[in-house]
Amino acid sequence: MIVALSGGVGGAKLSWGLERSLANEELAVIVNTGDDFILHGLYIAPDLDTVMYTLADLANPATGWGIANDTFHALAMLERYGQPVWFQLGDRDLAIHLARTNLLRQQRLTEVTATLAQALGVRSRILPMSDQRVETRILTPDGELAFQDYFVRRRQQDLVHGVRFQGAEQATLSPEVLAALAQARLIVFCPSNPIISIGPILAVPEMHAAIASAQARKVAVSPIIAGQAVKGPLVAMMQGLGLEPSAPGVARLYADLVDSFILDQQDAHLAPQIAALGLKVTATNTLMSDHSRRRHLAEVVLAQA
Ligand code: GDP
Repeated sequence: MIVALSGGVGGAKLSWGLERSLANEELAVIVNTGDDFILHGLYIAPDLDTVMYTLADLANPATGWGIANDTFHALAMLERYGQPVWFQLGDRDLAIHLARTNLLRQQRLTEVTATLAQALGVRSRILPMSDQRVETRILTPDGELAFQDYFVRRRQQDLVHGVRFQGAEQATLSPEVLAALAQARLIVFCPSNPIISIGPILAVPEMHAAIASAQARKVAVSPIIAGQAVKGPLVAMMQGLGLEPSAPGVARLYADLVDSFILDQQDAHLAPQIAALGLKVTATNTLMSDHSRRRHLAEVVLAQA
């Protein structure tokens, strides 16, 4: 068993590469749920959906989230009814939120996710990081914001001087997550945002402890290439938090948990700084701009085991 820790787009692309590169072994993807929220009465889990749509080859290649070639007729009608439409929900995408919300009345989020993923033909196990609610909250000069307020409604424009994960201390791990970590030969920290995608996963104390004590080898991939995030607010966010926005800056966040670190070949000159943390360092092309590059990075990751 290979276990990946993932947020949305960056983690989903590497998970796709891992799944397609594995022959006889199974992949379990532990996914951030700190971004989950309720809108229009629906339980929306953006990172779970991005991972499932990507593994099912349904994802919109332009955005990385949502379903390819979706239409937005329902959203236009919601606007006529005076409902908030700052969060884009496509017509085909809408169905998963309806189904999930309905199924959640009887089942845990882990069970609901398994049902949905199976229906989409996903062969890997998609595991929410916890069945309890953990909510990512963003501290800005305008006060504390709910995650989607910061990320989507206010378009990541606010200075971030803190992040907290409400409910993380009380959250527990599902039997499915515990089993996957116990069986893992390799745990992969995907190139997802370490603060708001991997951060909430590790903020659950049981998760941190289970990863720390797992027998598996542990490898992280840098989401920062040449001082830039491939997408999203990671660089500004790390600066706001007083962290160095670079591959070594990310490696420092994970140094107590991983044994190896993969950075982009453009950053190969920074490898000694990461090796000084006691990590084995590999430089390669980490930009997953097409399917063959996803597979390439996955193979370099799997070679760490
Ligand atoms: P989000 O929830 O969709 O924002 O998802 P993630 O946290 O998984 O993805 C955002 C992070 O992934 C950003 O920090 C990006 O720099 C990183 N990322 C996205 N695509 C790639 C890629 O192809 N290669 C690498 N190395 N990082 C990537």
